[in-house]
Amino acid sequence: MTKRKALTKTQLSQIREGLNEERASLVEQVADLDAEADVNNWREGGFDDDPADAGSASFERETAQSLSNHARSLLLQIDDALRRMDAGTYGTCERCGERIEPERLEALPYARLCLDCKRRDETGR
Ligand SMILES: [Zn+2]
Repeated sequence: MTKRKALTKTQLSQIREGLNEERASLVEQVADLDAEADVNNWREGGFDDDPADAGSASFERETAQSLSNHARSLLLQIDDALRRMDAGTYGTCERCGERIEPERLEALPYARLCLDCKRRDETGR
């Protein structure tokens, strides 16, 4: 197996910066979406006599909640990636222990598997 390139310090700090930015915007999104879900909850109670309004409010609330859940799970992955950076294990495939391709990390900073393992995962090995 050929040794893969390691991330350079510059690449790593760029990725960290990107993760921190994404993290900040996700935290904001989660707060907004949660507020939206709450507002719709409150509105829904006020439109009891109009089922159409109540229905769309509950649809909006569900959408906000599912987007918020999605953002939360991304946040967890980002936190995890940042933790691995601090621990010095960032960029190592959790399955084979090889380095994850720098290109892959730049495209998907919180990747935990290298491309080979990911492919094997998708094809059911
Ligand atoms: Zn691997």
